[in-house]
Amino acid sequence: MASLSLKHINKTYPNGFEAVKDFNLEIEDKEFIIFVGPSGCGKSTTLRMVAGLEEISSGELKIGDKVVNDVEPKDRDIAMVFQNYALYPHMTVYENMAFGLKLRKVPKDEIDKMVREAAKILDLEALLDRKPKALSGGQRQRVAMGRAIVRNPKVFLMDEPLSNLDAKLRGQMRIEISKLHQRLGTTIIYVTHDQTEAMTLGTRIVVMNAGVVQQVDTPQTLYDYP
Ligand code: ADP
Ligand code: ADP
Repeated sequence: MASLSLKHINKTYPNGFEAVKDFNLEIEDKEFIIFVGPSGCGKSTTLRMVAGLEEISSGELKIGDKVVNDVEPKDRDIAMVFQNYALYPHMTVYENMAFGLKLRKVPKDEIDKMVREAAKILDLEALLDRKPKALSGGQRQRVAMGRAIVRNPKVFLMDEPLSNLDAKLRGQMRIEISKLHQRLGTTIIYVTHDQTEAMTLGTRIVVMNAGVVQQVDTPQTLYDYP
């Protein structure tokens, strides 16, 4: 079953700018889709429409078999990780991870189970009582991912999640994300400028330019390596 379906999706901003034009893509369960393309080509806009953070001007967006054009972000089976992992500074790692579940009125004992499970997957168990300022950059990024995975979303959206990290950490986190994808068996859409990330993580790569999808291909075909 398709995990996500975008049909004839358009986005025109209130100032009249057409940021995304006739975007079509069927994403299967457990795919790792990469969006690449020059700055300003509409990658973030597309991701934000999938997340429900940006209104869709026309077209049809489905998550699973449900049309979600008018469904609120919190009611979409989706989680998003941004590049500037915005953790709440006054909350501990545990509280940061529990926050979204609390908002959704998940019972306390269930929250506890979900947070501890996510912490285990991301190797954060020893850090649950710390505040963000007492964490390294890589640890903070793992907490940001923890906040996203606690809800066990069907679809995981990542907008350049590693671009603020140094090269060494980026390499380590790339491996972490790959493991996470395998362990969770979730569908991921991932925006990046980094060709290594695109090649090693992606099952398919979507090349965008000026609001239009130019090509959709496997990394092997696109980058022409054996
Ligand atoms: P990318 O993620 O590929 O860098 P974006 O999706 O962020 O591109 O932006 C696509 C285009 O839409 C850019 O030209 C950007 O300036 C424009 N844009 C983004 N947000 C708005 C907005 N709120 N109003 C008008 N134009 C916007
Ligand atoms: P989710 O798990 O759905 O991503 P978040 O925990 O990221 O939820 O945020 C939930 C809501 O709380 C957002 O609408 C956000 O605007 C709001 N929020 C943002 N900053 C804070 C803060 N420091 N304390 C409490 N709520 C906040």
